[in-house]
Amino acid sequence: MNIKQICSQASATTERFERELLLTHALNQPRAYLYSHPEKELSQTEFELFNQLLQRREQGEPIAYILGETEFYSLKFYITPAVLIPRPETELLIDYVLENFKQKKLCMWELGTGSGIISVTLARHRPDWDITATDISEEALDVAKKNAHFHKAHNIKFIKSNWYEGLDSAKADLIISNPPYVAENDTHLNELRFEPSLALISGKEGMDAIKTIIQEAKTHLKSNGWVLLEHGYDQAKWVQNSFRENQFSEIKTMDDLNHHPRMTIAKNV
Ligand code: GLN
Repeated sequence: MNIKQICSQASATTERFERELLLTHALNQPRAYLYSHPEKELSQTEFELFNQLLQRREQGEPIAYILGETEFYSLKFYITPAVLIPRPETELLIDYVLENFKQKKLCMWELGTGSGIISVTLARHRPDWDITATDISEEALDVAKKNAHFHKAHNIKFIKSNWYEGLDSAKADLIISNPPYVAENDTHLNELRFEPSLALISGKEGMDAIKTIIQEAKTHLKSNGWVLLEHGYDQAKWVQNSFRENQFSEIKTMDDLNHHPRMTIAKNV
């Protein structure tokens, strides 16, 4: 079979697009190649590889894991099943930080960095910030380090750590986290079955990680430092109360593109 025949077997536009991506992966060629070489016949090996990839996709595996990469904030990121696939709502978190934290020098920590998308993207835009990114998973840290290296983000220090473990007191100007926040019996988890539960699930109500991050934040922040958290669409009230109970001020929640309250920021004063 040739490239044109394989692509035209798709019925829907998205299906065709995905076929094209899988083909580029199987052939190890850029997408433009498919258009410049429509008559290229696939070798037996290429065809088998393409079919294996297609089968994985048909069984529901996210395309980012099959391709081993995805895009976030217009940057390419390497991805494995050890880390979450970046979500568009997290791009809003980046927008918020870039709009509101314009200082040239700043000490930022990211807790639970996963693939490193937040730290690496911010490091690209703020090369003089002093960034520390943690994760409890060694495999996730390997992915994050690879992404930092790929993007030449030299101002990030990576630490294997369970939330604040091993981090100094009164040090950070800004603590950011997109922690696991899904409840352990959430019905959506079936759709997320290919992603690491360590990065998704956090106790009965999905609040355990957020609780730890907020409760211990004051010890680690400088005065006038900030905490910015992504959270579940139904957790904003609880997160705000938790910040209030821990004597934070200027608590503010922002919506995602679907108008769900998705991230909350608070100040240490
Ligand atoms: N927003 C993700 C989802 O619901 C969850 C990400 C997370 O737990 N940090 O699919």
